[in-house]
Amino acid sequence: MSMTGSFSVGAIRGDAGQGGIVDHRLARRMLINQVRIGRLRRDEVCDAHPELIRAASHVGTQTEARCPICEEDNLRLVTYVFGHRLPSHGRCVSSAKELRELSALGRELRAYVVEACCTCRWHHLLRVVPV
Ligand SMILES: [Zn+2]
Repeated sequence: MSMTGSFSVGAIRGDAGQGGIVDHRLARRMLINQVRIGRLRRDEVCDAHPELIRAASHVGTQTEARCPICEEDNLRLVTYVFGHRLPSHGRCVSSAKELRELSALGRELRAYVVEACCTCRWHHLLRVVPV
């Protein structure tokens, strides 16, 4: 996964693509496990796009969950909305109100909820929901 280039839906780890049925939590657990047993290096999974880390630190929602990789920081959640007539890098949404406003547009939009650690740059898709 490349860290260069602009942020896009492709920069979000864990997305199976349009219509793909995937259990994001299972994929996440397996990835964390791969790091724990040494099959993956930390830097292979701690490669969040700079834009994602910036969003996480500025508008991300702090959670009670410790980062599963570095265990030094709590995870933050960032919601990006992608879809028709939105920029290719999506719209970073920081409040429920903003989400409702997008929803009111009646377009086919999807919200990607991503967890990120601002310390080690671990990131993973948690869920994709229609807006
Ligand atoms: Zn971390």
